[in-house]
Amino acid sequence: MAQRVLLLTTPSSYRLPAFLEAGERLGIELLVAEDMPAALAGRAGLRIGLDFADEAGATRTLLTVAAEAPLAAVIAVDDSGSLLAARVSAALGLPHNRPEAAEAARDKYRMRQLFAQAGVPSPAFRLCSTDDDLAALATRIAYPCVVKPLRLNGSRGVIRADGPEGFVAAARRIARLLDRLEGPGPHQFLAEAFIPGFEVALEGLIDRGRLQVLALFDKPDPLDGPFFEETIYVTPSRLPPEVQQAIGEVAARAATAVGLERGPLHAELRVNEAGPWMVELAGRTIGGLCSRTLRFGTDASLEELILRQATGLPVESLSAAGSAGGVMMIPIPGPGVLRAVHGVAEARAVPGIESVEITAPLHYPLVPLPEGDAYLGFIFARGERPEQVEAALRASHDLLAFELMPEIPVLS
Ligand code: ADP
Repeated sequence: MAQRVLLLTTPSSYRLPAFLEAGERLGIELLVAEDMPAALAGRAGLRIGLDFADEAGATRTLLTVAAEAPLAAVIAVDDSGSLLAARVSAALGLPHNRPEAAEAARDKYRMRQLFAQAGVPSPAFRLCSTDDDLAALATRIAYPCVVKPLRLNGSRGVIRADGPEGFVAAARRIARLLDRLEGPGPHQFLAEAFIPGFEVALEGLIDRGRLQVLALFDKPDPLDGPFFEETIYVTPSRLPPEVQQAIGEVAARAATAVGLERGPLHAELRVNEAGPWMVELAGRTIGGLCSRTLRFGTDASLEELILRQATGLPVESLSAAGSAGGVMMIPIPGPGVLRAVHGVAEARAVPGIESVEITAPLHYPLVPLPEGDAYLGFIFARGERPEQVEAALRASHDLLAFELMPEIPVLS
């Protein structure tokens, strides 16, 4: 009989389709639990809607589901499900990350504390609150600094400040964003030292506490703020082998410090003359549709490797399949309502381009960082060498034109 795996995700997840495809290829039956308000909760066949915030209730529901037919694994597709996955796995006696580790991988303050305790190179930090005397606090901070909410992702609310005025403005902006998302404050946030350097992203798989690096991406566009919009990722990395080795070692120490013991690892690091520094890690795969750039062994996807590991199937070859791959997360050109995207056919026709996908819906407002949380779209490229992939992505993006209309303010 087919093995059964429970995936925990959100209705808007970019990552789910790749897991569903991988499940199909491997003949694994996938149950999908989606995080939604209790009022919308329910079940239709293999799809279950439930409120992850009600942890005890959600755990009970999922244990009832597990009692119908045994589950081989519970996997959090997105950050939102990581704690619930740990709890349900623990209750079912399945191998899993400890709930405290899953929690620490989502909480930037806890993560910074654990990195510091373990001596993992990471920025100095200070926990702040939006109801602190911000002007007074601003005089005690070293600049440049980066201020950020504790539990958002995709660079949402992450702002560089170069002096006290910038700090106060950034803290107020975070307060407004969190008021809108979570209700009235006060809200905690972090102020940390800005780490100069260039940035890389690492994808790995952890097995019994040991990290296997699956891919290292270079991010060739500088990420120096004031906001940190991701653009191009290209793998394999063009960094010298010893630098890549050092990056893998710091990521492994960071994962150990947080307590991640199995499953996927996505890590972001910055590198400068002092070596690699941890910015952030998560016990899940890379964001957006970016995992599509990766192919392993005989054409397996990253999600296939994760499902294989979770169900005890042999993880065929972990080595990346030959060619270079890359993705551009298409930058949001500005605020406004997206009316039209021109040049998609031409952008697709650039040699080396595999696909151009506009994921933002037409006639809806585009919200740039630091408030926004959705991508405009993705361009995927493949080639023999990373520099060809990067050039193809840039050439393809140059052919796209975005028609925006200013948003008409709602009269109240
Ligand atoms: P998120 O989880 O929302 O992506 P991160 O903490 O990873 O938030 O920050 C997003 C991006 O902001 C990072 O990838 C990096 O480019 C930049 N960044 C964050 N913290 C720092 C820092 N201390 N120094 C330099 N850049 C930073």
